[in-house]
Amino acid sequence: MAQTLYEKVFDQHVVRQLPSGQAQLLMGLHLLHEVTSPQAFAMIRERKLKVMFPERTFATVDHIVPTHTKLRPYQDAMAEAMMQSLEKSVKEFGIRFFSPAANENGVVHIIGPERGLTQPGMTICCGDSHTATHGAFGALAFGIGTSQIRDVLATQTLAMEKLKVRRIEVDGKLRPGVYAKDVILYVIQKLGVNGGVGYAYEYAGDLVGRMTMDERMTICNMSIEGGARCGYVNPDQTTYDYLKGREYAPRGAAWERAVAYWESIKSDSGARYDDVIKLRAEEIPPVVTWGITPAQSVAIDGVIPAVEGFAADERESVKEAYAYMDFRPGQPIAGTKIDVAFIGSCTNGRLSDFAEVVKVLQGGKHRVRPNVRALVVPGSEQVRQDMIARGWDKVFTEAGFLFREAGCSMCLAMNPDKLQGREVCASSSNRNFKGRQGSPQGRTLLMSPIMVAAAAVTGQVADAREVFGIG
Ligand code: SF4
Repeated sequence: MAQTLYEKVFDQHVVRQLPSGQAQLLMGLHLLHEVTSPQAFAMIRERKLKVMFPERTFATVDHIVPTHTKLRPYQDAMAEAMMQSLEKSVKEFGIRFFSPAANENGVVHIIGPERGLTQPGMTICCGDSHTATHGAFGALAFGIGTSQIRDVLATQTLAMEKLKVRRIEVDGKLRPGVYAKDVILYVIQKLGVNGGVGYAYEYAGDLVGRMTMDERMTICNMSIEGGARCGYVNPDQTTYDYLKGREYAPRGAAWERAVAYWESIKSDSGARYDDVIKLRAEEIPPVVTWGITPAQSVAIDGVIPAVEGFAADERESVKEAYAYMDFRPGQPIAGTKIDVAFIGSCTNGRLSDFAEVVKVLQGGKHRVRPNVRALVVPGSEQVRQDMIARGWDKVFTEAGFLFREAGCSMCLAMNPDKLQGREVCASSSNRNFKGRQGSPQGRTLLMSPIMVAAAAVTGQVADAREVFGIG
């Protein structure tokens, strides 16, 4: 019977059915970071258990690392304690650690693909919501909680329900100045933040087929913001070209065997989906969020929508968003003054994200407005080194951006990079929840990296196509 990739990969990883109705699912790869793992390791120690597959377990540090310095001990005692705890655990349990000391650190969802750890047909988990990123490779990748991290450390398995599968087909060509980030913000705007609850999202269509792996990672990354448990793209030649030669990718005969397997797990052409959504790429504009959920967004030339246009159960959140963000219905989003610009995160902190911005900054025509604090934060040390090798650090600093060390930085602000007071941030990250960027009153506007750059150089939300003459 024709099956989806989700069904095939899920079924192949079932260890047994549990009385709860869930399946016990083998996890091929377990990624760890410093924030969600210390308690899980403590529980393992308490029960005198071992890590079952240390060779399938990898760690890095991303949330708490300062991006202005690598000096230890960290000034924040809590951050230092988390770091020491992870260092102790990886040593004790024999886990490979991509550490700042070795210049190997980065956001966990950037490190996995970069090292070739993330591969098609795998089941992957990590104690972090945006684990869905790894689905770009045709993997089933789940964000998990602390007790599940404990379970995976001890048994390499997870208890999981089978999800429904929604295919989201995007066909056609994006207009100039429209990026993968706009595609996923548009999808979430159309389907809502809860639209994906109970689903895995399969992204397909000729636009997705033409996307680079970086672009696929950007869309899969935000699946969780649309309520989906995971998101994936069927693997293809683009996937294999990306993986070939990477540190942990199979080599020689093993590579040929792996590609044959990866081909076999693609969704079959006659596979049945629980839902299918079709979108046209040409209809997608540059999107900016105006509210306190990633679904509360408008086109760059749009206005803050009226509450009457929303379903009854969304209206409270919309009113709350008006008040918190200080917007009124009918107000254009363009022209909103910003205080901070942030380009980075596991959504848009890869080399290609910065490449787009470098293209428009080169030549020195544009500079960050004096009243704007603009941060460029590479998603990993590798990305940072690649940027420096290309001279992009200079392009950014000469344009007035702060070029930082790798980390999550202002995406979640569990480090010194924080908004102050009511500051407004144009951000390439993935969440605009209240207080997300470190100030309980701080305001976040999500957008693509190029739109963040346009906001940085104009001091306000602006159409990057006009600012930079794209098109
Ligand atoms: S960059 Fe942001 S979303 Fe991604 S792992 Fe770090 S804090 Fe989470």
